[in-house]
Amino acid sequence: MATVTLDSLRKEFDSGRIVAVEDLSLQVEDGEFVTVVGPSGCGKSTTLRMIAGLEQPTSGRVLIGDTDVTETSARHRDVAMVFQNYALYPHKTVRQNMAFGLRMSTDLDTDERNEKVDETAAMMGIEELLEDRPSELSGGQKQRVALGRAIVREPDVFLFDEPLSNLDAKLRTTMRTEIQRLQEELGTTAIYVTHDQEEAMTMGDRLAIMNNGILQQTGAPTDVYVRPKNEFVGGFVGSPSMNMLDVSIERVSDGISLICEEQFEYTLNGESAHQIAQTDLSTARLGIRPENVTVVEDGIETTVEVVEPVGSDNYLYLDLGPEFIARVDAGIEPEMGDVIDVTFDESDVHLFDTSGESLLT
Ligand code: ATP
Repeated sequence: MATVTLDSLRKEFDSGRIVAVEDLSLQVEDGEFVTVVGPSGCGKSTTLRMIAGLEQPTSGRVLIGDTDVTETSARHRDVAMVFQNYALYPHKTVRQNMAFGLRMSTDLDTDERNEKVDETAAMMGIEELLEDRPSELSGGQKQRVALGRAIVREPDVFLFDEPLSNLDAKLRTTMRTEIQRLQEELGTTAIYVTHDQEEAMTMGDRLAIMNNGILQQTGAPTDVYVRPKNEFVGGFVGSPSMNMLDVSIERVSDGISLICEEQFEYTLNGESAHQIAQTDLSTARLGIRPENVTVVEDGIETTVEVVEPVGSDNYLYLDLGPEFIARVDAGIEPEMGDVIDVTFDESDVHLFDTSGESLLT
């Protein structure tokens, strides 16, 4: 069983002046694909490096299966890591690069190693590159070789550290699908680090979202998107980001009224009104995703500041807040300065308290 268990992991640098990872507990199931996502510097790579054994935790434990590997050296952990910069040996051929890891971690003879390399190369479609050196390969081919080198070892766990960051957008999309396909086919537990929320949303069974060294939320991508636990997660997941407005709360006869300065008033009368009524809050942050704002005949009146076409959709920048965007069908194309009416469903409303915690479940 190649579960990966992180138990209260903490990592300090600079004699404690930098806390890169704080009290991180997470269990990755056998065969599961977990994507760790968060902004630059939030501690993703450090976490992955602690799982790989490339970084020693300040405190806490790493378990692979039932074995505590916290003190085990990287080469004695059954994990294979794929890096952003490919990390291939420049003077070795592709075959030698792929066979190298095998030589270090198994006692196969040369023929057996070659056979395994051939099999994996065929699976990855890189057979014709086996005698080339890394300098002769394109970025995409190098990344394929780096993946092949990880796969050939048949590790218990794959660790990916932003493996696609150096590839162009089209190749990135192809490789995302490829990595998912391979992981599914092989059934190997995988932990994938990225700072790209879009990539995270499309890959993996489960997201683990980090900020400032702290794990914010874990869950299936759609769950996290629909029910962000706090304002950070709400804003981080989804593109363009969730619109956020300061509102005051008033209890009215038919529910809860959210008043956004002098711009508009929105009345909640469903389940969310019920939940807010149980608090004594007088202010909150209203979050509404751009794709949940619709243009209607009669709703909240607003002026269109900018129209940004993005292919199938238009982004309308509205004067409801500092950067308030409605993501609408490309067929809806008001002019700059037009006054339009918009609305949103109560079920799409997110509310956060001043500390950023979600008020709705
Ligand atoms: P990125 O996406 O930019 O790689 P990240 O989320 O992977 O970011 P980490 O690389 O894990 O973040 O870094 C977390 C914090 O720890 C950062 O503040 C970083 O500067 C710091 N840090 C990482 N490695 C070291 C180190 N060897 N010495 C000192 N500080 C470090």
